[in-house]
Amino acid sequence: MSDLQRIKGLGEQAEKLLAKVGITSLQDLLDNIPRKYEDYSVITPISKLAPGKVTIRATLQTVTQRYARRGFHITEATASDETGTVRIMWFNQPYRANGLKRGEEYFFSGEFARSYRFLGLDNPACELVSTFPLHTARLVPQYRVTKGLTVHALRRYTKAAFALLNVPETLPAWLVQEKSLVSRREAAEQMHFPSSTELMAAARRRIGFEELFEMSLASALNKREFAAEKAQYIPFNEEVVVAFVRSLPFTLTDDQRRCSWQILQDMTKGSPMNVLLEGDVGSGKTVVGAMAMVDAAAGGFQSAFMAPTELLARQHYENLKKLLGTENEEKIVFLSGSVVGSARRDILEQIQSGAALYIVGTHALFQEKVNFAHMGLVIIDEQHRFGVEQRKKLQGKAKLMPHVLHMTATPIPRSIALTLYGELDVLLLKQKPAGRQEITTEVWLPEMREKLYKEHAAGYLSSGNQVYVVCPLIDEQEEKPVRSLSVTSIAKQVKQWLPKCTVEILHGKMKADEKEAIMAAFVAGKIDVLVATTVIEVGVDVANATVMVVEGADRFGLAQLHQLRGRVGRGSDRSACYLVQSENSATNKRLSLIEQESDGFKLADYDLELRGPGAIYGTAQHGALDLRVAKITDVELIQEAKQAAQECVLKGENLVQYPQLLQRVNHLRAITNLN
Ligand code: ADP
Ligand code: MG
Repeated sequence: MSDLQRIKGLGEQAEKLLAKVGITSLQDLLDNIPRKYEDYSVITPISKLAPGKVTIRATLQTVTQRYARRGFHITEATASDETGTVRIMWFNQPYRANGLKRGEEYFFSGEFARSYRFLGLDNPACELVSTFPLHTARLVPQYRVTKGLTVHALRRYTKAAFALLNVPETLPAWLVQEKSLVSRREAAEQMHFPSSTELMAAARRRIGFEELFEMSLASALNKREFAAEKAQYIPFNEEVVVAFVRSLPFTLTDDQRRCSWQILQDMTKGSPMNVLLEGDVGSGKTVVGAMAMVDAAAGGFQSAFMAPTELLARQHYENLKKLLGTENEEKIVFLSGSVVGSARRDILEQIQSGAALYIVGTHALFQEKVNFAHMGLVIIDEQHRFGVEQRKKLQGKAKLMPHVLHMTATPIPRSIALTLYGELDVLLLKQKPAGRQEITTEVWLPEMREKLYKEHAAGYLSSGNQVYVVCPLIDEQEEKPVRSLSVTSIAKQVKQWLPKCTVEILHGKMKADEKEAIMAAFVAGKIDVLVATTVIEVGVDVANATVMVVEGADRFGLAQLHQLRGRVGRGSDRSACYLVQSENSATNKRLSLIEQESDGFKLADYDLELRGPGAIYGTAQHGALDLRVAKITDVELIQEAKQAAQECVLKGENLVQYPQLLQRVNHLRAITNLN
């Protein structure tokens, strides 16, 4: 007999239906969190009934049934308490009458409303009065159901599961006590069948706390394991760093100074640095990374600087050459999958001999055949996935753990930074370099597009600036939208509207060298309008491009739109970002948020609240953020859970005593791959 069929009256058929809503075991029934609750907890005397959702406790007086017109079935009953009598009707529930006994006392919960000229109860749930009703006279749990599986059945099964299962405590006793948590059993019971709103809230707090605690514990343990590793000691070579800063064509912002200082200090410690440098687009992260590389190079260590795409990696390579000057040119190399043949052999040789100190490229940098002579520092730009596995692979090559600096323009809400990225030290670049312009942001309707291109964009173009247009699709075959939102068709239209301009397209399906040629031409100012997908999303830096048009803007996340907006406003010219809706409807709520808000962190918070963490972070981390009860926006509970996790680690708590907790934590440690 299967686990679920231990429940009386639950057969194969029901088991199949339960599987459809993700329930395949008794434990699953308990883990199936109610979607919401209907509050039927207050019992009203019949004489006091007012229209709306009500519960009464009454004795059944009469019950009759009949077929009305066209086979319409009606069960009609009356019930009374000391204060009065009420009429009750059920429509098309022919089984009702059989289950009801005159003279018995029932709870009825449902809508008190007018039908057929009388006020009465229509289609109420009803069950014999007991101390533990399931469907009436309480906060009634609502579950996700499927055709053939009623919510009533789910409630019965869930109650039955409690009788068949132990629900052992999963958290250390001291923690349960310290945080005044209810026991796991009680939390589960109160979650499904709450005796009051307060007890339900306590149950949810307990379950939510546990989820966040597991996440925090996973990152605390990862962090501890990592801190125990030995890393290269990279001395702070002040003279060289100062000379580099002096050579820059601009003055560093205070934030840039503060962050670099911290990074340079961290590299002098014997344990591996693990820093996330977070700064809005254009905040100048690259030069902070460059400083760390200059310092490492002064100590004779190699740095690997990895970007997620060839385009960006190339740009970093060119930038770095400019920043470091001709005297360092020989020490800077570029490696990607497209570097082949003798050129590749040559570069691999320079990396192996240690002649190359600044090694820029794509993930190709970390392939088997690349052997570093003295790897000291890894910089990862715009990518959330440089996990412990990759790091260990590098460690093999470097003998000691390299220091790692992650750089991202994706603002990570504090709550996420605390949980998912708890093991990272986060450094923030909040200031923008001087002289940056605010970017005008406007939401446009598609019916006004011609004006947008012919007047607004054209205005910028005529003063010699360039324009980006970003589309959600590459070509028509992908999807059949109401209006074409593809790169190919938008480019066609733009060419018609702006006949004097050079319009080119760019998207991910193009060959690498084609893409590069287009990008190079755009950087050189030979292209006026670049119609592209989000391949231009991150990191591309063209100061002369001052207009960003996003077509089908409502299809993008706020964080992503903010990134796109950051492609313009990089020089001292006035810039604009036009967000064109997919349809001629009222202004999209999210789009009007971005119109008003220029702070990427605030936008990330909105995104998190409106669309959930999956929208901001790829599927890789989604599993870890798959919270059932806790809200990732509940910073207070997160703080508590984090503090508890740290306490747990400090105590040297042996998790073997808590097998369920250990299993969850190990799972989370494995899937939160940033370490
Ligand atoms: P991001 O943080 O988006 O990666 P970049 O590092 O690409 O930003 O910097 C954007 C531009 O700003 C680059 O052209 C860079 O040279 C310039 N920049 C960086 N720091 C400063 C500064 N302190 N003052 C002026 N310009 C700066
Ligand atoms: Mg960058």
